[in-house]
Amino acid sequence: MRVRLKDIGSEGIQISWDLTPSFFHACLSEAVTGPTHASGDVTMSLTRNGARVYAHGAVHARFGVTCGRCLEAAPIVIDSAVQVTFVPASLAPEPAEHEIHGDDPDYCTYSREEIDFGDLVREQVLLGIPYAPLCREDCQGLCPRCGTDRNRASCACPPLEDGKVAGRLRL
Ligand SMILES: [Zn+2]
Ligand SMILES: [Zn+2]
Repeated sequence: MRVRLKDIGSEGIQISWDLTPSFFHACLSEAVTGPTHASGDVTMSLTRNGARVYAHGAVHARFGVTCGRCLEAAPIVIDSAVQVTFVPASLAPEPAEHEIHGDDPDYCTYSREEIDFGDLVREQVLLGIPYAPLCREDCQGLCPRCGTDRNRASCACPPLEDGKVAGRLRL
């Protein structure tokens, strides 16, 4: 997901990319297990003022991650607007101040006359995944004692004494 500076004319340009299975694989493998049926796209409008490039657009993605309770697929839909100004790394006073920071990705840097949207898009996708994704709001999870998927079957185990559900269970 790269754009060369020289390709951004005075009128600006519109670009889009499809998010590929390999993108999702690389993006999600460390955060979650089992991305399934992933698809998405990125659309950006770029305008340029000297070496500063203003980008605004959107990241759309749909994929499944592992439910935090039962290990089935939990659907994730990302639909996030992006507005960011790219400045050359050589002009940024302190690189650390211009990295992408959680909810404040207003400035990014680029180098070698080329803007790479990869980190920005990855960040948007990862930010859209809840800490404990659920396949559905009322997922019953796995029995903490015998491992039965309570969405599919019931078991005879007594509830845990402290009433905890089997949350945060991950492979
Ligand atoms: Zn579930
Ligand atoms: Zn049980």
